[in-house]
Amino acid sequence: MVTERLEGVRTRIREAADACGRDPGEIRLVAVSKTVPADRVREAIDAGVSILGENYIQEALEKHHLLSDGAVSWHFIGHLQSNKAKHAVRIFDLIHSVDRLKLVRELDKGAAKIDKVQKILIQVNIAEEATKSGVHETDLLELIKAASGLDNISIQGLMTMPPYFDDPEAARPFFAELRRLRDRIEDEKIPNVGMAELSMGMTGDFEAAIQEGATLVRIGTAIFGERT
Ligand SMILES: *Cc1c(COP(=O)(O)O)cnc(C)c1O
Repeated sequence: MVTERLEGVRTRIREAADACGRDPGEIRLVAVSKTVPADRVREAIDAGVSILGENYIQEALEKHHLLSDGAVSWHFIGHLQSNKAKHAVRIFDLIHSVDRLKLVRELDKGAAKIDKVQKILIQVNIAEEATKSGVHETDLLELIKAASGLDNISIQGLMTMPPYFDDPEAARPFFAELRRLRDRIEDEKIPNVGMAELSMGMTGDFEAAIQEGATLVRIGTAIFGERT
């Protein structure tokens, strides 16, 4: 079941890339496995998933333990409390949801302890929704400049989660805005800051995100089915 769904998602990614003249190889699929039990996650790994996205530290640590033999990269995409940073650096290759300096400092400290350079994305709350994580646009550059000075942190790009819409086209302006922000930050040429990655697009809207430049799409429901 997971295998067929995954194949369907891969086809849609390829078609969306083709439709806008992008190389499908530029777009990586993050299979969002929050709340999905380890045995079903293993099915996805066996079917060729190479990146897992998790939202909760405790759940991720447990699954990582059960699935640590699989050749898979773990990404963190949920809200991260600063006091969990030391756990996060142990298992995650990329943390998509970094949105404040206190958290960046804790990640830097935790990464230094294990001799790691932690790759991160900065999450931007473009719609400035009170209920969502993410730095507001007005504070983005300052956060990036501050984080760029830390030895054990490597910024790779930006992430966003637009407000929920039934119509995926309604999300498109938010994806376009994230790309504009990325371009503007690139123009600043801040040392030690990479802007190659744009993490945007979920089950309901990933085709629009790909057309607007996504390099990482985070897809759960379309692969694993509705979460219970
Ligand atoms: C759950 C989640 C996703 C995946 O959502 P689906 O609609 O199930 O594809 C993507 N990104 C984040 C940050 C999430 O929390």
